[in-house]
Amino acid sequence: MSLTDLVTKKSTDSTSAVQKPEKKWGTVDDLFRVWASSATGGPKDIIDSDLNISSNGSANDETAIITLVNDVFLNAFRHKSSDIHIEPREKNVKIRFRVDGNFISYKDLDLSYKNPLIARIKIMSYLRIDEHRLPQDGKINYKMFGGKTIDMRVSILPTIYGEKCVIRVLKKDERPPELKNLGIMPYNMVKLKAHLKDSFGMILAVGPTGSGKSTTLFSLLSQFDSEEKNISTLEDPVEYRIPGVNHTQINPAIKFSFAAGLRSLLRQDPDIIMVGEIRDEETAKLAVEASITGHIVFSTIHTNSAVHTIQRLVNLGVDPLLITSSLRAIVSQRLARKLCAECKVSYTPTDQVKEFVVGKVGKYIKDQENLTLYKAKEDGCDRCNHTGYRGRVGLYEVLEMSDKLEELVLRNASKTQLEIQAIWDGMVPIKEDAILKAVLGETSIEEILSVLGT
Ligand SMILES: [Zn+2]
Repeated sequence: MSLTDLVTKKSTDSTSAVQKPEKKWGTVDDLFRVWASSATGGPKDIIDSDLNISSNGSANDETAIITLVNDVFLNAFRHKSSDIHIEPREKNVKIRFRVDGNFISYKDLDLSYKNPLIARIKIMSYLRIDEHRLPQDGKINYKMFGGKTIDMRVSILPTIYGEKCVIRVLKKDERPPELKNLGIMPYNMVKLKAHLKDSFGMILAVGPTGSGKSTTLFSLLSQFDSEEKNISTLEDPVEYRIPGVNHTQINPAIKFSFAAGLRSLLRQDPDIIMVGEIRDEETAKLAVEASITGHIVFSTIHTNSAVHTIQRLVNLGVDPLLITSSLRAIVSQRLARKLCAECKVSYTPTDQVKEFVVGKVGKYIKDQENLTLYKAKEDGCDRCNHTGYRGRVGLYEVLEMSDKLEELVLRNASKTQLEIQAIWDGMVPIKEDAILKAVLGETSIEEILSVLGT
């Protein structure tokens, strides 16, 4: 979809007619000052961009296979990959890493590597090496030189070209990022921080898979004093570890579901509860009940927008009256790739793009005439693996419940009505948050369009 289409679409957007109250955040320069003083950016270590370490020896040489697997793991960690994919194809075996949500191709191997490579990973994860027809799931605790252990979840699935292996790299012992480093703009940060002071109620992070919902919740959880409060979580899998927080891994295979865990957790005298995900009626009702009986409940729901979440809760069978009395705030989010600070390119946008940007976030921009935007450098640089992007930044919208919204929820109002009211109440739509981040040079218009679509 072209930006032209987008601009045309935007102008007919049903919510654009709503007159929003003036925000008190001033111009983009003011925002930038607050932003620059809080955001420190990602880690500064230099990533080795050599993606072509060759594996010596033949596929039949056991030592060569062990060395190859170690090479794959170490390079995946070095590139901060979330997943390692080993894919048998018709004529080769492809190994690629998912980094910041996108694939980096690591290696193409001869087909003779296919079976010994998968066999080696099966041995490491205690799976049956003689089973090739059924899917298998396992775990690897990979000991690094120096004593650090990295946990990996292994999934093996037969395909027409052989077994495909996907390894999820878990962030064992890793602390969640600090709240101030997530990319939450000041107008959203004040709202979230205010709700951390509530004595009860539910705060939800929503978005598709891989949008950073749990990371946001854990960064929020880290704001509490675990010595003063009993903080307990139910997770699948446990990704971060926060000192003083009781992390529990649920296990649906033995009927230890989120709902079962939540029932037990409520007998553990909790103050703050984090439920990994609400996806069924029982968990939804238990979570809502817990939040109106004196607990702060954090959870995630797989929905596309803040207002959509309210409807999802209704559809899950939660009484709208209970929703209005429990819900405090909904954070809807996506992750966008951050432009590489070393090589991003500034440019003067066309009149059409300028009109689009000013139309959405003009009230923040002092010098609209000389608007500058940034884009990824073609071929990037060594620091960004020649992609032009490095790390990711969250795009957010934060909906707070208000009396008017509660009324609308109880009247079973449409999503559009809820959205208009939420914006009237001060919610900055995720698109505006995203465009502001492009104006600040954090990401590009192209990236926003690819993440948010229309
Ligand atoms: Zn770069």
